[in-house]
Amino acid sequence: MTDSSRNSPLYPKSHLLAASGIAALLSLTLLVFPSSQVEAKKTLLSLDVESSTSLSTDKDAQPAELVTAAAGQGTQPGAGANQQAPAAESPRETLITVSSGDTLSSVFAKAALPADTLHTLLASNKEAKQLTHIKPGQIIQITRNAQGELESMTSRLSRLESVHVTRTAKGFSVKRELIKPAIRQAYAHGTIDSSLFVATKRAGLPHKLALDLANIFGYDIDFALDIREGDEFEVVYEEKVVDDKTAGSGNILAARFTNRGKTYTAVRHTDRQGNSTYYRADGSSMRKAFIRTPVDFARISSRFTNARRHPVLNKIRAHKGVDYAARPGTPIKATGDGKIVLAGRKGGYGNTVVIQHGQRYRTLYAHMKGFAKGIRNGSHVTQGQIIGYVGTTGLSTGPHLHYEFQVNGTHVDPLSQKLPMADPIAGAERKRFLQQSQPLLARMDQERTSLLALNKR
Ligand SMILES: [Zn+2]
Repeated sequence: MTDSSRNSPLYPKSHLLAASGIAALLSLTLLVFPSSQVEAKKTLLSLDVESSTSLSTDKDAQPAELVTAAAGQGTQPGAGANQQAPAAESPRETLITVSSGDTLSSVFAKAALPADTLHTLLASNKEAKQLTHIKPGQIIQITRNAQGELESMTSRLSRLESVHVTRTAKGFSVKRELIKPAIRQAYAHGTIDSSLFVATKRAGLPHKLALDLANIFGYDIDFALDIREGDEFEVVYEEKVVDDKTAGSGNILAARFTNRGKTYTAVRHTDRQGNSTYYRADGSSMRKAFIRTPVDFARISSRFTNARRHPVLNKIRAHKGVDYAARPGTPIKATGDGKIVLAGRKGGYGNTVVIQHGQRYRTLYAHMKGFAKGIRNGSHVTQGQIIGYVGTTGLSTGPHLHYEFQVNGTHVDPLSQKLPMADPIAGAERKRFLQQSQPLLARMDQERTSLLALNKR
């Protein structure tokens, strides 16, 4: 491709087509623009035709004002209401819309720029490499200098990003420009009839947000197995806007998902350190890993250690758990969902419950006064469910819960920060969270009410 372009006329086919496009536009322009502007355009057109035979005459023939006029008039895509199709070019400016199969070198060939220039450009600057990532529909604007060489080039990667190349004394400089979009809130609602992704697509929700949605509710809903026809979702999310047009999406701010008649709510909260987490509407964690403390109203009376003097045996022993001193009869909660592998007496542990959580985790609760109703070997428990009551059975000096946590069969400190704990929102952040979540939830309520009203009609 590159070689043949050297032999082809200076303006290859695509450009000639563009030139005839100008002619068509011109006749339209005659109806719209005041005559002075039309004159300018006419002149430019004739220059263009001339320059295709000899570029060297170009620099002499071209008054500077005309170039400016052309640049201001319709050469930039998306600039103003009077905007013309990309075909409106000045002789020095070429707009190329990338078609499928194009590479940067075929774009250069279309613009009648020598392959050497491309090599120089790519060699002159590491940043230039990003120019080679082009995709169909992308618009590349090329400006030549009076000698017909590449003067500058702008490649618009998206509404939010463009790369700008300028000739310098040494070669080319490459600058990436990021357009900061405005952020507005958008709302989407959908009902599932086959899959989540079909429904989110129909609701106009970007694919990335559909994945986010599945992640956010992933602790509550198994999106592979639990999804049923008639399940519903609604989402308030950030939409990036440039020139009043959508230019991508940001984060999900709040969402509701109704699965088999049960509704789950999630609200995003960013704390003062800038960390973002999703919480339920009441500020409890969405993450269903483990609650850190199996007993409320307790104090830690002994921590995890590999060596301590056992109070009863009076021997140095590792204490591979945490003791919570509490009144006898205080409820003990399962710290995660799981299956009971033991509910019974276990030597010095006294009345003990052991819960298996998936493949990796196991928790143990010892010295219990008794078990809660329905707690027996093989039964399933959910996080927070009461499994028994604080007592002092087995080798124990007073009422307390001895709690152990195992990862792949190894005891770990349940108070360690490394474990997947599901902490509720911190007290100091809670007020801010409730202030921020309230309008988001209100928006969903309001949108939903109007949707229902529409459906009734
Ligand atoms: Zn203990």
